[in-house]
Amino acid sequence: MIIVMKDGVVPGTPEVDQVVQAAARYPDVSTEVRVIEGATRSLTEIYLLGSTSVIPQAPFEEFPSVERVIRIRERYRSIGRHEGQVEALGFEYRGVEFSQDAFHIFPGLCAVDSPKNVEAMFRALKDFGIVTTRAGAYKPRTSPYDFQGHGPDCLSYLFELAGKYEQKVIAMEVTHESHVEEIAEALEQAGDPTGVIIQIGTRNAQNFELLKIVGQQDQFPVLFKRGMGITLEESLNACEYVASGGNQRIIFCLRGMKTNLGDPHRNFVDFGHVPVVKRLTRLPVAIDPSHSVGKKVIASDGLLDIHHVTAQGIIAGANMVLVDFHPNPEEALCDGPQALLIEELEHFVRDVELVRGTYLERLKLRKELGS
Ligand code: PEP
Ligand code: MN
Repeated sequence: MIIVMKDGVVPGTPEVDQVVQAAARYPDVSTEVRVIEGATRSLTEIYLLGSTSVIPQAPFEEFPSVERVIRIRERYRSIGRHEGQVEALGFEYRGVEFSQDAFHIFPGLCAVDSPKNVEAMFRALKDFGIVTTRAGAYKPRTSPYDFQGHGPDCLSYLFELAGKYEQKVIAMEVTHESHVEEIAEALEQAGDPTGVIIQIGTRNAQNFELLKIVGQQDQFPVLFKRGMGITLEESLNACEYVASGGNQRIIFCLRGMKTNLGDPHRNFVDFGHVPVVKRLTRLPVAIDPSHSVGKKVIASDGLLDIHHVTAQGIIAGANMVLVDFHPNPEEALCDGPQALLIEELEHFVRDVELVRGTYLERLKLRKELGS
C-alpha cells in the first residue's frame, strides 16, 4: 500500500510520523518513507510493506495530510502506475526535464574512440542546439576479442569536451559497479562540466547486483534498457531493483527484442510498447532505433528504416530517443554500420520534430473530441 502525502508534507514532520505510527499498529507491516523529486513538484510517499492486504484504507484516508491511498497492484511497486492510481512525476537533471510529457533526443557515439571524433560530434550537436548526447566508454561486447571501450582513459577528454560544447547530459553505459565510481571521479576531476545518465544495457537487464548498486546511489539517474530476451514483466521487475534501492530517477528504454537469425533488423522493433510502458509505469520511456534496426538500410520511399522506426516510437509518445551518429563511421570501433553521419543530423532532427509535432496534435484532437 502507498500513502501519498499532500504537497509540502515532508519526512520528519508530525504529519508523516502520524501515518507511520498508525501503520505500526498492524502486525508484520513495515514502512518506508520516500521522497519523489518530480520535474514540477516533489511528493512524499509512505510505503507499507508486508501483510498489507488486510489493512483498511479508510483510517489513512482520514488524515488531513494524506492525498491518496493506493493499493499496490503490480509487483514492481515503486515504478508501477498501479492501474493509473499513481501519477508519473518525472524528474529534472542538470536543468533537463525527464518525464512522460517531455521529449529529448540523445544523438551521439555508440562508443568513444578518439578526441577528434568526440569533438566533431559535440560541435555538430552544439550547432543544432542539442545538449543531450550518448557516448559509451564501457562496451559490453559479444566477443572478448572485440573493442571493449576505452574505459576510464577517455573520460577526462570526453567530459572536458562536453563542457566545451555545452552538453548537459551524457547517457553512458556501465557494466560493472566500479565504473560508476570511475565516472564520478573523472567528473569531479574535470570540474563537473556535464551530467551523466548511467545506462544499464540490455545484456545486464537482469544483473541484479549491478541494478542494486545503481539503485543505491543517487548521484546519477539511470537509463534501464529492456532485456532483449525476457518478458516485459521480467524487465519491469528487474527495473524495480533500481527503484527499490532508492533511486527513483529512472528512464525505461525500448531497444528491440531478439527473434530469429535472418530477421531484416538486428532486433525486432518493439516501439508499439511505448504506450504500454507509459501506462504500466511512472517512468519516461526512451527508444533506441539504432540498436533495434542495427543497420543503415533504405526503405523504398527513400527514408532510412532508422527514421521510420524512430517515427513509430515518437508518434506513440516516446520521451527520449537514443541514436547512434558518427562523424567517420569507418573509424568507429563499435557499431559503425548503424551510425548516421553528421551530415544526416539535420534530416534526422527535422523529421523528429515533424513527428513529435504530430503526436502533440493527436493529443489535442483527443481533447477536442473528448474521447
Ligand atoms: C548501447 O546502447 O550502446 C548498447 C550496447 O545497447 P543495448 O544494451 O541496447 O544493446
Ligand atoms: Mn552499440
